[in-house]
Amino acid sequence: MIKFKRRKAWDRRGEGEGMLNCREAEKMIMPYIGAQLDEQELEQFLNHIRQCPDCREELEIYYTVSLGLRQLDSGTGVYDITGALEESLDVAWMRVRAVRLRKVICYAVNTLCVTGVLTILLMQLRIWLLGV
Ligand SMILES: [Zn+2]
Repeated sequence: MIKFKRRKAWDRRGEGEGMLNCREAEKMIMPYIGAQLDEQELEQFLNHIRQCPDCREELEIYYTVSLGLRQLDSGTGVYDITGALEESLDVAWMRVRAVRLRKVICYAVNTLCVTGVLTILLMQLRIWLLGV
């Protein structure tokens, strides 16, 4: 029902370097709202939404509709939908950053472990070779 506008920027924006084009981003809108994207998809989606006003608008529409339907179900009153979307995007960004941070920490710990093992090996070699 909301498919009447914007079919202009497809395949022009955000190609290459693992970026989504609008068609791909659009396919992720419903999974985003349903919290069904994995971390990598989520990050790509958020990056696209951040720089593509068209898809952002599309997301707002879908978000509004889905939230509106949920409200009808639960019977709650007036609700700040734009605010809710902002909040949802903030939370999503935090999730992406947390994952990134975890990766950095894993990498640091791995590096430390490897360095430690190498140091031990070198010391052992020194003992073998020099008998010190
Ligand atoms: Zn787009």
